[in-house]
Amino acid sequence: MRVPRRDRRAALLIGALVFVIAFTQWRAAIARNRSIPDEPFQIADNLYYVGHTGVTMFLLTGPEGHVLIDGGYPESAPLVIESIRELGFDIKDVKVLLNSHAHPDHAGGLAELQEASGAELWVSEADAPVIAAGGRGGHQYLPLRMLTYVGLGSYPAARVDHRFADGAEARVGPLTLTANITPGHTPGCTSWSFPVQAEDLELLAVNICSLKLFGFESFVEPETYPGLRADYEGSLRTLRDLPADIFLASHPTWFGMYRKHRDQEQAANPAEPFIDPLGYRDFIKRAEVRYRDVLAAQQQRQ
Ligand SMILES: [Zn+2]
Repeated sequence: MRVPRRDRRAALLIGALVFVIAFTQWRAAIARNRSIPDEPFQIADNLYYVGHTGVTMFLLTGPEGHVLIDGGYPESAPLVIESIRELGFDIKDVKVLLNSHAHPDHAGGLAELQEASGAELWVSEADAPVIAAGGRGGHQYLPLRMLTYVGLGSYPAARVDHRFADGAEARVGPLTLTANITPGHTPGCTSWSFPVQAEDLELLAVNICSLKLFGFESFVEPETYPGLRADYEGSLRTLRDLPADIFLASHPTWFGMYRKHRDQEQAANPAEPFIDPLGYRDFIKRAEVRYRDVLAAQQQRQ
């Protein structure tokens, strides 16, 4: 049976329309899912949680300006700005913006936060080109890299003001944060460590970038990129060697944040539930066990 050309055109048009509507609704649903606010709260004297939707952002305040760690999703900026305001601070006093890694859930909002604050953005040498390109080309794993080229996982490109290597220190007045490059999840994954005061206690906070594996990695020849295995093992060592008191990470569930926040109510010193060197060590240990299993399986298949 021959379908008249006019009917074919109408069917095509309706199909295209249905696709556009479905796509628009799908994008709106994603934006809604990324905009679930969290109550901001104080962790230690000058350290605050200002994240939302399952991704962390931390504000470290100081007399000469503040530091904000991570930018969340592209939808995050208004929520973070509101959380900072709720705590009694002003986004315009944020002088330095830091990032854990170049993925859209941690770097997506950086451009807008940079615009709103006028802060300098610091990104590791290896992740900087990705953030400057709005997330494109960032994934080491081909299936994920392909997605960014069709716009999935990309985000507004931010202006990188400072590119740094391992051990760099970001300073604002008396605040000093040290960059521990812990590559693997991304090549420039940065775990920031910094001293914080909690009443009479002098503590070291460590924000673990990520030790998450995607399942596409190859740690045996040919490696996903030359040196991935050495990078990942080095990251486990680097993190193990840090004398962390306050355990933080780029996702709240990784360090039991909501439970610890609830426990603050009963604590004499509100920072107490977050002082968790054992939880910190255990998190690294579990990542190492998972990595050893993956490596052993890959070596067996070789
Ligand atoms: Zn990530």
